[in-house]
Amino acid sequence: MTEENSQPAETGKDFIREIVAQDLAADTHGGKVITRFPPEPNGYLHIGHAKSICLNFGLAEENKGSCHLRFDDTNPTRENDEYVKAIEADVRWLGFEWSDHKFFASNYFQRLFDYAINLIEQGKAFVCDQTADEFAAFRGTPTKAGTESPFRNRSIEENLSLFKKMRDGEFDDGAKTLRAKIDMASTNIHLRDPALYRIRKVTHHRTGDQWSIYPTYDFAHCLSDAIEGITHSICTLEFAVHRPLYDWVLENLPLPQPLPKQYEFGRLNLDYTIMSKRKLLQLVNEKAVWGWDDPRMPTLSGMRRRGVTPESIRSFCSTVGVTKHDALTEMALFDHCLRDDLNKRALRAMAVIRPIRVVITNLPENYSEDLEAINNPEDEQAGTRTVPFSREIYIEETDFMEEPPKKFFRLRPGGEVRLRYAYIMKCEQVVKNADGTIDHLECTIDPDSKRGGATASRKVKGTIHWVSKTQAINAEIRLFDRLFSVPEPDKDKSGKDFTAFINPDSFQSLPNCKLEPSLSKASPEQRYQFERTGYFCVDEKDSSPETLVFNRTIALRDSWSAKQAKQKK
Ligand code: ATP
Ligand code: MG
Repeated sequence: MTEENSQPAETGKDFIREIVAQDLAADTHGGKVITRFPPEPNGYLHIGHAKSICLNFGLAEENKGSCHLRFDDTNPTRENDEYVKAIEADVRWLGFEWSDHKFFASNYFQRLFDYAINLIEQGKAFVCDQTADEFAAFRGTPTKAGTESPFRNRSIEENLSLFKKMRDGEFDDGAKTLRAKIDMASTNIHLRDPALYRIRKVTHHRTGDQWSIYPTYDFAHCLSDAIEGITHSICTLEFAVHRPLYDWVLENLPLPQPLPKQYEFGRLNLDYTIMSKRKLLQLVNEKAVWGWDDPRMPTLSGMRRRGVTPESIRSFCSTVGVTKHDALTEMALFDHCLRDDLNKRALRAMAVIRPIRVVITNLPENYSEDLEAINNPEDEQAGTRTVPFSREIYIEETDFMEEPPKKFFRLRPGGEVRLRYAYIMKCEQVVKNADGTIDHLECTIDPDSKRGGATASRKVKGTIHWVSKTQAINAEIRLFDRLFSVPEPDKDKSGKDFTAFINPDSFQSLPNCKLEPSLSKASPEQRYQFERTGYFCVDEKDSSPETLVFNRTIALRDSWSAKQAKQKK
């Protein structure tokens, strides 16, 4: 299911852009649009985050506003600086810039502490000694009101003194919490005296050991928004139930007006992958993948390494649109956006990934010729290049069959094919090794069948790619497929862990590939279409001039859907 109907026909705007436009018209925020993208630095960004980045930075761009990159670093147990750096690199790679609007929630720890004191002084927050279990038991259920904590009516003085002792590290982790005093009977469970501060004697990646208490998301997020003057605080749907608390905190403190407002949209879910940082971390820790930047991962760094372009991610995000409901989007839609973009920008080249050697017996030993090949039929500016041709070439193992079925139009004994940009070639002889495997083919070419030649217009049914043996460069080619073999690996009905569904065929290495010589200069940024094979790019990590490694970004056609359809039959 895609979200084609996400945009109202009248304005072409999604509901968030609609709200922003109305606020601008009504001058709600003094003509300003200030959004933020608030990642928690506890993992690498994935394509779901890209949807939020495109929306938040996009809104700011479209309305001459700004978008803050704010690290929501309030949970020091899982956060670190490696993640901060990776997140910055990924946002930039996607094509967005925060200039001097980089912030950390941890910058506000002192101010948040002062706001907490303010709530205590107003009698709107109290220190509670309940354990986590008691807290949960007293909380009630969605249909049954909670019970007030026995510590709820402590005096303001006692609360102030205890809260400061919490800060000074006088109590153990979990011994006390600071809670808002709201309403234990509220129908919204998040308003039943929620926790605002917890004791955690953990070193923070930025503030070190300065704090032994840390604010909860619900307390820190809304206040960070208000401190930064955010106008539209856009998050995913699961936060809708937190919105009354977001508003409660802001409305009960002396803050600059107008206050930020929270809006929620449906998160991106993609089939055949997972979109939770916790689970992605599990894959990394269990070494089920090579790391966060494994080309099969849905992380931005993994996708970049696989050769995915930032443009295709942005185009995908704009295609799925912004809606008020959650949906499962097909990976096939992403693949479509990717192929569409690569088709426009990729340089064409010839590479043989499973080579067999061909000797052209009617050419002399040292024969050598330069042929002209088109770099990109979609882009005239890309020009042409020369491809060397000689007496021995490689062709694809799959382009030859000794006993082919009826509709096989590639090479067979006695049959003819056209070599791309070159001659018509006939297979005269299959030369075998002692064990029966093919050593090489002996072929002849029609010397007049090249472009401009007397028999150039002679038609044969198949055209195949090839690489000249003398000039060929060796490379390892890595083929990637879906990381999981089922559409929703983390929603298994029998309760199996998502790791049980890792696709065992998601990675394959072909170590003996033969590439045309122009590819020796390939850089990781340059995308290629290896003719008839797929889109490829140099692996940014493992490739070197001595040992070239290319990743397949995506196959030319969607063989996955076809395979699935076949299995269903
Ligand atoms: P995860 O569930 O992967 O841990 P998270 O929401 O905890 O994600 P954050 O770092 O808090 O991760 O996310 C930063 C921002 O990105 C949040 O505003 C969040 O709403 C948004 N976001 C996260 N996942 C998605 C998604 N799948 N689709 C759209 N937005 C997302
Ligand atoms: Mg989060």
